[in-house]
Order: sequence, then C-alpha cells, then structure tokens
Amino acid sequence: MSQYVVGLTGGIGSGKSTVAELFVEQGAGLVDADAIARELTVADGVAMPMLTAEFGRKILSPNGALDRAAMRQLAFADPSIKNRLECILHPIIRKISTERCRAATEPYVILAVPLLVESGTYRDRCDRIVVVDCPESLQIERVMARNGMSAEEVKAIMATQATRQQRLLVADDVVVNDADKTKISEQVKMLHSNYLALMAEKLKASC
Ligand code: ADP
Repeated sequence: MSQYVVGLTGGIGSGKSTVAELFVEQGAGLVDADAIARELTVADGVAMPMLTAEFGRKILSPNGALDRAAMRQLAFADPSIKNRLECILHPIIRKISTERCRAATEPYVILAVPLLVESGTYRDRCDRIVVVDCPESLQIERVMARNGMSAEEVKAIMATQATRQQRLLVADDVVVNDADKTKISEQVKMLHSNYLALMAEKLKASC
C-alpha cells in the first residue's frame, strides 16, 4: 500500500497527463480521476444506468457510451445539470480513487485530479500538491490542437475551472510547463527525489 499521495492538478491543457506520465517513468504510481470517469461512462460503465435515468437517452452516443460533447453542451447551457452530473460521478470516482491509492504498491502515488483545487475533499487526502502551470494562451493553443476545439470553446471550459492564481495558491510544488518537454522532465526528476525523501520521513515518523 502506498503511504504517500501527491495530488497533481492544473488547468485544461496545462500538461497534467504529460507530467503524470513522466512521474510514472520515474517509478511513481498513478491514479487518474479523469481516466476513472471515462471507465465509468463507457457503454457498460457502472454510471451509465444512473446517468441515463437522470438525463435521458439524449446523452448517449450511438454505441451507448456517454456522449461527452453532448453532455458538455447540456452542462454549459444549464449549471444545475453540471451539478447533477457531478453528484452522480464524483462520489464513485472518489471511492475508486481511494481504493486504488490504497492498493498501489509503488513508493508513492500521483493522484491526478483536474478539479482538485475546486474540491476540498481531494486536498484533504493528499500529503502534497503539485500544480502544472503555464500561460493561459498556451493552454488554449494546446487544447485547440489536441481536441480540434475553437479558442472560444476552450476559454468557456477554462472559465468553469479555478483560476491560475487559485491553483498556485494551494501548490506545494509547481511544474512550469511553458517550454519544450525537456524542461518538465528535469523538474519531475527533482520532485521525484524529493517525494521519495518525504515519503521515507513520513514512514519513519509513523514507526
Ligand atoms: P492536460 O492533461 O493538462 O489537459 P496534456 O498533458 O494532455 O494536458 O497536454 C495538452 C497537449 O499539449 C497534449 O497534446 C500534449 O502532448 C501537449 N503538450 C503538453 N506539454 C507540452 C510541451 N511542453 N511542449 C509541447 N507540447 C506539449
């Protein structure tokens, strides 16, 4: 069981997944809240009966999985829909992510949560918080390239997330991802050594 949990967050397109993979290459465990959300919403995912009962079949793609774009449109149009969606998904994601952090065998676990700052309950579960940060213009550029969205669509998503400043305020560590990937890999290596040392200290203190 991993005794040490590092919460990893950042705005959309900041580079969370990229940085998380670099930690895994170093030997960290990874529990990814977004990946769990996707598992829950495939065609036979455990959340699908509840979501269909709540929102109807209009949220389904032809293969029966959650149509994420359709759901996003509905949630944008009506904030109460976003709330109802989160009330269904978040408790299940929290439960599964806790179980996976406990079951991990690596020295520490990266718990990647896009909305960690927005959700107090995740902060309480982390020994340390690392924020991936970059200028907003880069976030927009990267998500446009990755998802084929317009700048307006990306900005609309960013407006629903914590601000850059709010994230930096809760950060114990920051990975600055404003240049090429070599720069982040150096930062991750240094943080990895630090997390191993902190994990060892925590273990000693609990003996
Ligand atoms: P997030 O998980 O925060 O949404 P990703 O890690 O998926 O962000 O990164 C968004 C996109 O930008 C991806 O296509 C990724 O390959 C690219 N990317 C991330 N960091 C860099 C970088 N330093 N240089 C070039 N491309 C990057």
